[in-house]
Amino acid sequence: MSQISVNPKHRNDPYHRYKMPAVKSKITNRGNGTFTTIENMLNISESLYHPDDILFKFISYDLATCCDFKKKTLKGAYKNDVIQDSLDKYISYFVLCHKCSIPETTAEIEGKKKKAICKMDCMACGTLSKLDSKDKLLNKTIQLIIKDKQSGRKWKEHKKIYEDLNTVFSFDDFQ
Ligand SMILES: [Zn+2]
Repeated sequence: MSQISVNPKHRNDPYHRYKMPAVKSKITNRGNGTFTTIENMLNISESLYHPDDILFKFISYDLATCCDFKKKTLKGAYKNDVIQDSLDKYISYFVLCHKCSIPETTAEIEGKKKKAICKMDCMACGTLSKLDSKDKLLNKTIQLIIKDKQSGRKWKEHKKIYEDLNTVFSFDDFQ
């Protein structure tokens, strides 16, 4: 599976640290219409630390089509690059820190019920960015994230830095 940089601006940099699998989709024509399956949505979701159903809904809002989350399908025919472009919009706003552009961010919710706001906490530079947008698509997605977090579902957590160090400098490396 081909790995690409998470940050769309660093796609051509082979040494960029943060990687994700490139979108892999399949278009199927059936009697009842055409649909597109995003085959590696779960792997993408794990690399971005964001739930796959939220990513999937964002893509379907952005492409203005309906989706069947269970089957991981979008109604209509969409090539890999079209889906990747859509996902990149999500990454640029919801995954990359608004200050340092490093994707080590976690969405945090402050306040209760309808007064809740969503902030993005960056583990790399410590910036808290409030997510608030007049853009319809972004705003709809912010609300989706708030609802999801309020439901109490735990999102996948970033690996702690010391765990990374343990993997990089394991004792075996020095023998
Ligand atoms: Zn940052």
